[in-house]
Amino acid sequence: MGGLTVDSIDVDRTRCAGHGLCAELLPELIRLDDWGYPIVAPGPVPEHLAEHARRAVASCPALALALRRLTADSQVRLRNLPGSEPMMGA
Ligand code: SF4
Repeated sequence: MGGLTVDSIDVDRTRCAGHGLCAELLPELIRLDDWGYPIVAPGPVPEHLAEHARRAVASCPALALALRRLTADSQVRLRNLPGSEPMMGA
């Protein structure tokens, strides 16, 4: 089994209050829908954005964001989902 692990961003929609702070801190991966709720780009967080992603997760006032560790196996599953190409590297 490969040792590659990367992080993806999960939103707990039951907690999210639509503050929009996450999209301000990480506009490369998070945009807001018409109601101000986040839409996270699918796939792994690129390494060059990892620190920004951690800051966005830590700054969410509703504790609605989390980083989820993906293994090489789960990345393969993500690749197989339509419209969910992983975003790797710079
Ligand atoms: S910062 Fe947190 S509460 Fe605000 S929109 Fe983003 S996930 Fe939701």
